[in-house]
Amino acid sequence: MDGEELVLPSDVQVTIINKNVMIPIRVVAENLKFKVDWNQQARTVKIQQDQQTISLTVDQKQAMVADKQVTLNTAPQILNKTLVVPIRFVSEQMGLKVRWNNQDKIVYLTNTSKEPAIDPGKSSGKGDSTSTAQVTDIQFANNQLVLSTDGAVQPIVTTLKYPDRLVVDLPGATFGDISQPLDQGLNGKLDVSGYPNVTEVRYSLFKREPAQVRIVVELNNVKNVQYSHNLIADKLIIDLNVAGDNVTPAPVTPVGDSGRKVVVIDPGHGGSDPGTISITNKPEKEYNLALAHKVQALLLNEPNIELVMTREGDTYPTRPERVQLANQLNADVFVSIHGNSVKSAPQATGTETYYYQRSNSKELATIIHQRLLKAMGLRDRGVKNGNLEVIRDTTMPAVLLEVGFLSNVLDEELMSSDDVQMRAAQAIADGIKEYLGL
Ligand SMILES: [Zn+2]
Repeated sequence: MDGEELVLPSDVQVTIINKNVMIPIRVVAENLKFKVDWNQQARTVKIQQDQQTISLTVDQKQAMVADKQVTLNTAPQILNKTLVVPIRFVSEQMGLKVRWNNQDKIVYLTNTSKEPAIDPGKSSGKGDSTSTAQVTDIQFANNQLVLSTDGAVQPIVTTLKYPDRLVVDLPGATFGDISQPLDQGLNGKLDVSGYPNVTEVRYSLFKREPAQVRIVVELNNVKNVQYSHNLIADKLIIDLNVAGDNVTPAPVTPVGDSGRKVVVIDPGHGGSDPGTISITNKPEKEYNLALAHKVQALLLNEPNIELVMTREGDTYPTRPERVQLANQLNADVFVSIHGNSVKSAPQATGTETYYYQRSNSKELATIIHQRLLKAMGLRDRGVKNGNLEVIRDTTMPAVLLEVGFLSNVLDEELMSSDDVQMRAAQAIADGIKEYLGL
C-alpha cells in the first residue's frame, strides 16, 4: 500500500475466488486501518472510515454503501473460520486506488487523498523501486487505447488542442519487454490505418529522471474528445468518445507539468556546414543562429513552453541528430530556420514556409508564415509542401522557414538587421504560441 509492503499476520491468507482477490477482514482492520464492526447474529460486517460506511453480509452479493444497495461480483464468505471480503470493492469504496499485477499476483493499493498526482518518483525518497512500473503492451482498437502495465501506474490523461490529441502520461513508468516496436530513442508508433478518427498513436519514454512514459493519440477531424479510463486487472483502458461537429469543444485542460509544451528551434546548418553564402559573403548559418537566439530569448520566459535548441553555437548537429532530438523529446513543435538563395537569379525575393505531409504541420506553417510575412514585409512566396529531411522525419508538427533570400541585396539587408530579426523572432514566437493555444 502506497509503495510499501503490508506485512500480513501469519495466520491469514489472501485468496482468489471467482477471479476476485479476497482478503481476511482482519487485514482490513489491522493493515488498512479501517474501523470494522462484526455483527455475529446478522453475519454482517460494517466497515467505516471518515464519512464512508459499507456493510457486507456473509454469502450475500448485496452490500450497502452508505444507504445505497450495490451488487458485488463475489459475496463475502467464511473461509477456514475467517471472513474474507473482496479487496477491490472494499478498498475502492474507501477511496483507495486498486491495481492488480496479474503476472506477479500483487495487489497495489494507493491512498489517492494523501498522494500528489504527479511524479511519484519525486514524492518520496524511499521505495523508488516499487514506484517504477513497466509498460508491456500498447494497443489501439475500437476507439480504445489499452495499455498493459507491470506494476502500479497513476495515469494523467490530458486533452490538448491544435492539434487535437489525447496525452496519457504515466509518471514513474518505463518500457518493459514491450510487444510493439521501439526505436533507439525509445519512441514508437502504432499502425492506426483503418481508424479514421485517429491520425497517429505514438509512445515514448518522455522523461528518464524521473521516468515517464507518454502516449499521444492524435485525433483527426474531431471537434470534441472525451475519455474515461479504467484500471482493470493490469490494464489501463482509455475510451475515446468521438463526438461530431456540433458539440462544443472541450476546454483545454493541461494537468501538472504535462501541460508544458516542448518547442524545438533548429537553426539551420552550423559548424562545418555554412549553408549558402550571402551576397555580402556571410554564411547562412550565422543568420539562422542570430534569429533563432532571438526566438529563444522570447520563448524562454514562457511558463508553458520548454524551449530546446538543436544547436546553441557554431556547431553542426547532423540532420538525423536534429530529428532524433526532437523525436526523443516528443516535442510539440519543431521549427527550422533558414535563409534562401538562388545565386543565378539575384532578383529572387520573398518569404516561404515549408511543411511535409503530416496533419497540422500545414496549419502550423500557415500560422507562422502569415506573421513572418508581415514582420519581414517581403513578397509572399507561399506555404509549400517540401520533402525536406528535418520536417519529414520529425514526428511532430514541423516547419522549415525560408525567411528571405540571402542572394538578394534587399532581403539580405533586412535579414542582417537586428531590428528586423527582432520582429521576425516575435512573429515566429507568436505563431508558435498561437498554434499551441498559449
Ligand atoms: Zn539553409
